[in-house]
Amino acid sequence: MGNNEENYVQEAFDSNWIAPLGPNVDLFEQAIEDYYSDEMHVAALSSGTAAIHLALELLGVSAGDEVICQSFTFSASANPIVYLGATPVFVDSEKDTWNISPLLLEKAILDRIANGRKPKAIIAVHLYGMPYKVNEIEKIAQHYNIPVVEDSAEALGSSYKSKKCGSFGDISILSFNGNKIITTSGGGALLSKNKEIQKKAIFLATQARDNAPHYQHSSIGYNYRMSNVLAGIGRGQMEVLDKRVAARRENYKFYKECLGEITQITFLEEPKNFYSNRWLSCILTPSFEVREKIRLSLLEDDIEARPLWKPMHQQPIFLDCPSYTDGTSENLFDRGLCLPSGSNLEKEDLERIVSLIINNIPKQ
Ligand SMILES: *Cc1c(COP(=O)(O)O)cnc(C)c1O
Repeated sequence: MGNNEENYVQEAFDSNWIAPLGPNVDLFEQAIEDYYSDEMHVAALSSGTAAIHLALELLGVSAGDEVICQSFTFSASANPIVYLGATPVFVDSEKDTWNISPLLLEKAILDRIANGRKPKAIIAVHLYGMPYKVNEIEKIAQHYNIPVVEDSAEALGSSYKSKKCGSFGDISILSFNGNKIITTSGGGALLSKNKEIQKKAIFLATQARDNAPHYQHSSIGYNYRMSNVLAGIGRGQMEVLDKRVAARRENYKFYKECLGEITQITFLEEPKNFYSNRWLSCILTPSFEVREKIRLSLLEDDIEARPLWKPMHQQPIFLDCPSYTDGTSENLFDRGLCLPSGSNLEKEDLERIVSLIINNIPKQ
């Protein structure tokens, strides 16, 4: 936490706005809009997952539709497709950013169209804070006239060609879950340059209440609005976002400096004009065995390090879904490791981690 979170939470208590609406919600949304630009319209929600669910619904996704989704991601990118009765179509990653491959995306679209099932939307993810190839993906999406949901849950503070991640999709989403770069403990946001989209998102997120003195409903709503108490935390967190990004980037820099010379370890570099918030610092090793050796030696010292995300097309629940893959994400999952990356890591912590890795990497 930064300095002001408790003050803003106290304001909620002092004014008795303990509800999923109130001044903190408005001011948190305003702070996010200020961070982006006047063009952005923001709806603060109960989670990033809720934001993706509403985004898909607002783009007209319904039962029987297909939605393309980056396979190399966290399950929350894909689950809302299934909530709506639609089918995820998974697309593999490319090696430069570990995000959705433009080549495979186009292949998937053409193949689905040939099957008579044009995808309703594309979910692209800036994984670990590294932007996806925005221009390439946008070009394909526009060519086939398919809207993009930009999953920027891990990429607040990242940018592509000097434009902030979270501003690229037809609809974009952020997450403020406890593990993200800034947090409201649990929370998320839906962003759009289209004011109507924001208004409809808030309408659906507050149980779809028609304008009437009694409770009247012409559509199915959700209880997805952010609490005014948690939005107080969010206001304080927005004030320290730049610091958190700087701290995460420092972690990455330290790991890179200490481990970059080791031939068995490689890092995901920023391509030109890509700027990552380095939400998590990740490494690639030569093999599953080396990765496990490092991971288990850290664990023995009570240090948690997780393998990279297991691709969705390999998840038991999604095995029957169509997928367009070339082995890239499976390979990343086998060989990759997320190193401890918290914004509050001390130099001693980082040194301990690095020396354990150096001591446990098999000599070549
Ligand atoms: C965290 C995360 C989400 C979901 O956000 P919640 O706020 O936890 O619901 C979605 N996509 C990705 C890539 C995430 O990392």
